[in-house]
Amino acid sequence: MTLQTAPGQPDLVITGATVLLHDENGDVQFVGDTTITITDGVFSAVESVHDAAVRGAGARGADASAAVSRARQTIDATGMIAMPGFINCHTHSPMVMFRGAAEDVPESRWFNEFIWPMEVNLTDDDVEVATRLAAAEMIRSGVTTFADHYFSMPAIAKVVDESGLRAVLGSTYFSTDGQAGLEQSLAFALEFAGASDGRITTALAPHAPYTVTDADLAATSAAALEHDLLVHIHASEDRHQMKHSRERFGHTPIETLRRAGLLENRLLLAHGIGIVPEDIPLLLGGGGSIGFGSAPRGYLKNGFDTTPVRLLDSFGIPVGLATDGAASNNTLDVWEAMTFLSLTQKARENDQTYMTSRQALGHATTKSAKAVQLGDSIGRIAPGYKADLILVDLSDPRSQPVHDYANTVVHGARSSDVDTTIVNGRVLMRGKKLLTIDVAGVIAELAPRLERLTDRSHGTSIQNYDA
Ligand SMILES: [Zn+2]
Repeated sequence: MTLQTAPGQPDLVITGATVLLHDENGDVQFVGDTTITITDGVFSAVESVHDAAVRGAGARGADASAAVSRARQTIDATGMIAMPGFINCHTHSPMVMFRGAAEDVPESRWFNEFIWPMEVNLTDDDVEVATRLAAAEMIRSGVTTFADHYFSMPAIAKVVDESGLRAVLGSTYFSTDGQAGLEQSLAFALEFAGASDGRITTALAPHAPYTVTDADLAATSAAALEHDLLVHIHASEDRHQMKHSRERFGHTPIETLRRAGLLENRLLLAHGIGIVPEDIPLLLGGGGSIGFGSAPRGYLKNGFDTTPVRLLDSFGIPVGLATDGAASNNTLDVWEAMTFLSLTQKARENDQTYMTSRQALGHATTKSAKAVQLGDSIGRIAPGYKADLILVDLSDPRSQPVHDYANTVVHGARSSDVDTTIVNGRVLMRGKKLLTIDVAGVIAELAPRLERLTDRSHGTSIQNYDA
């Protein structure tokens, strides 16, 4: 039997959850016994008996009950937390193929002896298969959006389309690619902007100030302004790079970006560990909209310091969570990044009162959304926002008892507790079962490629690291 549906019929109603909401100041709160209604891929109502401020329209009860009775699909989330899906603000998702293949070496050897020689071997098809594995890992761990920076970007877009994820995609280039580098990145960005029902937004993706010339950075800035595109780039990645830039050029990497005009753009900067106070007026004064992606797990593994989040935050510059690629970070687990953010920032500032669980959740939600320039559409469970959310089971012994939901989520629960992942109102995982990706099939497809992918006997490399 086919049911005729009235216009505005809810696609999905989730009842009974305790929901992570943001108050008018943007502060995180948890509200129990809440009904979430999703229509046409967006949250159409969020209603709770406990907080009049979050009511969609009218009193809960009549409206929520009506929504449940008219919905195409309902989920009873009693006993679960509903929170915005995680946003991975900087990754190279296909690099899951090199997970564990370049370990325990300094950064220059990691690039020059392992990663860049291995990347000579890649085909578009390899990237597609590896991205499918990455997409499975992200959906499993509650990631609903990822900002990707890599090669063979149309192959990645194909996986975004079929997996149901949301992504901010930028095709990487170096100046050694010549003019063709920026041209292909721009062509991708223009062709795929708004693709997959708007789930794909795009960026220009120069690799870094040490692999892209000042002239090419300036051309990137001009192209981005002309076409209103985001620019996603690695910058001031660690303190050594910042010092080296000062010695070599007499100024910081951020000043290099300023001279190229890039600080006038919408700009997503990866890492920023080497950000110093003199960079702040530059970041604020360019007239652009600038955010950072911070990936603390990899920083610990590399023995680096971490992003100066307190400094950036104090000037209203958003810092979101990231994992970088799995060849350095091992996982694409943004939940883990949230926990490490809290721990490493407390240690960096030597201040137990800083980076509370609520602050960490702010970075995981609204600040990550702002960092990838999607603050108006994702990062909150609120009417009008895209329906990207996860349901989390807190029944594991390490999550019990719950005295404070924020603390339990950041320091007790883990990504393996994610039960359901929803993007654009579509359920991509339910009861921990992936609905859009065949993981066993992907692993079987990747396995016979690994020997060829990690071969370095050809003695060539896509690039040379000297920063
Ligand atoms: Zn990176």
